[in-house]
Amino acid sequence: MSDSLKSMRIALVSHDGKKPEMVAFVLQNKEKLEQAFLFATGTTGNHIEQAGITVEKLLSGPKGGDAQIASLVATKQLDLVIFFRDPLGKHPHEPDVQMLMRLCDVHNVALATNPASAKLMLDGIASS
Ligand code: PGA
Repeated sequence: MSDSLKSMRIALVSHDGKKPEMVAFVLQNKEKLEQAFLFATGTTGNHIEQAGITVEKLLSGPKGGDAQIASLVATKQLDLVIFFRDPLGKHPHEPDVQMLMRLCDVHNVALATNPASAKLMLDGIASS
């Protein structure tokens, strides 16, 4: 594994219907993720901590956590956003969700919205 992950700053966000997938993902990729500096929205962060991984927790998504992550994207403080959206759910903070994804595109920050793409990106970073 290369040193690339050590300088990476990665955000982890998951909607409620996707939190089990997020926990499974972080456990499956623990060795890699632990090398990076991790941010998460509040409730996602609680789940990740319970899985034994250190993470900098921001506000809960609906209370502004997605907006905080978006701000980190806009100020070039993140290298990768892993955002497991629930495409089947309705979310009161949908405008913030859209803003986060839009700013990833504006600032060309890697965005993975499901475990398959997140794994490809993490593996890509680890082997670069
Ligand atoms: P949460 O926020 O991790 O606090 O649940 C995620 C979201 O719903 O955007």
